[in-house]
Amino acid sequence: MDRNGSMRNLEDPDVQWDVVIIGGGASGLGAALEAASRGYKILLLEQDDFAKGTSSRSTKLVHGGVRYLAQGNILLVLEALKERGRLKLNAPHLVKDQPFVIPCYSCWCVPFYTIGLTLYDLMAGRLSIGRSVPLSKMGVSKALPAIKTHKLRGGVRYYDCQFDDARLAVNLAQTITEQGGVVINHMKVNGLMTKDGKISGVEAGDRETGKQYQIAARVVINATGVFVDDILKMENPEARDVVRPSQGIHLVMNQDFLKGGEALMIPKTSDGRVLFAVPWHNRLVLGTTDVEKKVAELEPVAEEGEVEYILETAGRFMEHAPKREDVLAVFTGLRPLAAPSGEGKRTKEISRGHKILVSKGGLVTLTGGKWTTYRKMGEDVVNRALSLAGLPAKESVTAALKIHGHLDEVDRTDPLYWYGSDRKQIDRLIDEDPELGHVLSEKLHILEAQVVWAVRMEMARTVEDFLTRRTRAIQLDARECIRLAPRVAEIMANELVHDREWEKNQVKALTELASAHLLN
Ligand SMILES: Cc1cc2nc3c(=O)[nH]c(=O)nc-3n(C[C@H](O)[C@H](O)[C@H](O)COP(=O)(O)OP(=O)(O)OC[C@H]3O[C@@H](n4cnc5c(N)ncnc54)[C@H](O)[C@@H]3O)c2cc1C
Repeated sequence: MDRNGSMRNLEDPDVQWDVVIIGGGASGLGAALEAASRGYKILLLEQDDFAKGTSSRSTKLVHGGVRYLAQGNILLVLEALKERGRLKLNAPHLVKDQPFVIPCYSCWCVPFYTIGLTLYDLMAGRLSIGRSVPLSKMGVSKALPAIKTHKLRGGVRYYDCQFDDARLAVNLAQTITEQGGVVINHMKVNGLMTKDGKISGVEAGDRETGKQYQIAARVVINATGVFVDDILKMENPEARDVVRPSQGIHLVMNQDFLKGGEALMIPKTSDGRVLFAVPWHNRLVLGTTDVEKKVAELEPVAEEGEVEYILETAGRFMEHAPKREDVLAVFTGLRPLAAPSGEGKRTKEISRGHKILVSKGGLVTLTGGKWTTYRKMGEDVVNRALSLAGLPAKESVTAALKIHGHLDEVDRTDPLYWYGSDRKQIDRLIDEDPELGHVLSEKLHILEAQVVWAVRMEMARTVEDFLTRRTRAIQLDARECIRLAPRVAEIMANELVHDREWEKNQVKALTELASAHLLN
């Protein structure tokens, strides 16, 4: 993935793309991979960085959604379980099985959840990853050594998968490139082109140089998450809003608050949702919340009430109740929920299914959905876009398409296992220049070679791109992330040929951003 090379594709204004996709999150990347792998000429434009929006801020679960089963949304769960199985096969370096334990403090709870979760396993069919089992009180304390045992009756263990969302986005962008597609980050779409009342392309600006481009396309897909309405209003300022943003936050802390490798799932909290505490990259991620938001933002901010709710709920189940000072980072995302036709539904009641809408001028908008089903969303939206554009139909191949980094055998004892097949290349860089073997962060297992790799091979353009989405430093330990910024800026400036002023500005921007990931 070479950004300068990608930009050269835009030099000829007469080129017409089959499909232009706006947005480089799960939805846009899924659509781009679907179209590129079927052989269409595609371009994906992302205003900031891949997964800059919601797609780097998930709970990191590849799941059928136990909660949706309880809501009776069987078709959604069936679809998600199928996609869970596929994603695990296609990206085993990023997706792993994760046992979850539901602790039970009443006698009806163990049989109730065992039956429900057995149904959940059966729904996965041959893609099931493990049978749910009831646990004794002792079994629960063994699985979750730091759980409160007062009045504990037993529990249930079930299985889902866990992943690294932003790394998956980066690997998807690489796979799209390998399939012949073109992806460009830091390139914002600021207008739509029309011809005879039909959308004929986009106007976009390179945020690095300020240069503007007119890009012709047979069909344009709007996959901009909570920003889909902004794009729709470029065509029709009166267009009705199709997205209902709903905020969810996560608190990250030391894994000792749970101990052991199993995750905790609290099925019914005071706000009627579920709460997860999931081990992730040697930390513990606690979340999430569901608060309706009126405004779409790229950097949403956690509300005090959300922080208190998570700490208070976790404290009721953990032997050592976590406190504010234990929080290493807080990260916040906005779900781009597809607005239901009727008013009045609360965001937690809105289906997590996806919707595809076609505007009068032929703009195809994808909204709703979840990371787990990104591939199916891509397949559906591309089918719709192709028939609209009159492009010849071709079979989808993504169900079994291996994602960049795929490895048959993943050694999870290696702290850098998540690079998958690229792992060896990092070593090769160090062989060529042993200085690059220098450890930037002991705590987070980050080497200087990773910065060079991210610039050369993963289209990292800013210090934020590296510390937020090429590595996950900002979400794992925001203070450590701030400490790393100056050296990362120095290495990146050297690679990208930037001056001291650039370095200074990058460090300042990163410090401001990471500070907002800390609780005061
Ligand atoms: C708190 C929370 C927890 C979640 N947990 C899970 C989970 O555990 N498992 C799961 O499967 N799903 C989960 N989800 C859902 C999942 O994260 C989202 O459904 C998914 O990431 C949305 O992807 P998207 O591409 O639609 O939006 P985004 O990721 O926001 O991508 C949209 C992109 O469009 C870009 N963009 C916007 N305007 C423009 C423009 N004018 N030009 C160019 N680019 C533009 C943005 O910069 C952004 O990168 C969670 C969501 C939240 C909020």
